[in-house]
Amino acid sequence: MVIDLRSDTLTKPTPEMLEAMMTAEVGDDMFGEDPTVTALEQRAAHMFGMDAALYCASGTMTNQIGIRLHTTLQDEVICHKYSHIYLYESGGLMSNSGVSVRLLEGERGLITAADVKAAIQPDDIHAPVSKVVSLENTMNKGGGSCYDFEEIWAIRETCHEHNLSLHLDGARLFNALVATGQKAKTYGEVFDTISICLSKGLGAPVGSLLLGGHDDIKRAKRIRKVMGGAWRQAGYIAAAGLYALDHHVKRLAEDHKKAKEIAEVLKGLDYVEEVYPCETNILIFKLTDKYDNQSFIKKLADHDVHAFGFGPQLIRFVTHLDFTDDHMDQLIKVLKSL
Ligand SMILES: *Cc1c(COP(=O)(O)O)cnc(C)c1O
Repeated sequence: MVIDLRSDTLTKPTPEMLEAMMTAEVGDDMFGEDPTVTALEQRAAHMFGMDAALYCASGTMTNQIGIRLHTTLQDEVICHKYSHIYLYESGGLMSNSGVSVRLLEGERGLITAADVKAAIQPDDIHAPVSKVVSLENTMNKGGGSCYDFEEIWAIRETCHEHNLSLHLDGARLFNALVATGQKAKTYGEVFDTISICLSKGLGAPVGSLLLGGHDDIKRAKRIRKVMGGAWRQAGYIAAAGLYALDHHVKRLAEDHKKAKEIAEVLKGLDYVEEVYPCETNILIFKLTDKYDNQSFIKKLADHDVHAFGFGPQLIRFVTHLDFTDDHMDQLIKVLKSL
């Protein structure tokens, strides 16, 4: 039995999802003629109470397009120093949008309205122009942490006062909604653009959506085109996304429950120095000097358990749709044996 906790992107379509894909009605989406893509875009926009959505190949693409929409050359993006858009998108903010980045500190990857306010550049030719704030929820490198909605609301107010746009990297937004009981439509009300991923916890094989206003999404289509991201019979994979929105949202609670159970087990083990707070499906823990993370990952792999190192002495586990109850029992046995 191989247990893979490296990421929630590793899931394979379920038989029911595959069935939905095989029977999808498709057309040429470059001509706007794929009914399944259109249905997915409308469905997602409706869920969030936003005007429109654009289906794209990846969350990197939807984030990059989102930032591009809100900026021009020499502008600045304000975000946490652990943000995916900064750390893990290959420097794309520079090459796609020609912008600089103002990086903020903040507990568990979360920033505050006060941090944002203090980071806004003065109106002075020496400084770049602050244009957009980008939040990430849940925050991957913060250990799957979730924002309090009040803080988001305060950040929104600050953005309004200073004429800044607000973008959300919601690769795992559904995890945050399920964990906190917050509502999708509330998010649609405060963000100018939202990126959601169907290929993370929701278990679709491919795809992300950028949500926003009519004008933004119309422009986004042109930007997607120049990135080589306009596509043809994408309805086959969009069908998986529709299936995921219908069937795989509520069950995220099971992934959260498993992650929390693993956290409790880890707390009792002598090689674990600290287990970071676990709110969703991401669990980060720190090793004592019994192992360094290379040797620990190797040791896990010898037992067919796969995980990622996440900085010195830090290990990340991500629970997901394909991590079953049997995997859970086996994992706990392995962890206790090390
Ligand atoms: C996975 C992820 C993305 C998008 O990644 P792709 O692999 O490009 O789909 C964006 N933001 C966060 C926080 C992520 O975890």
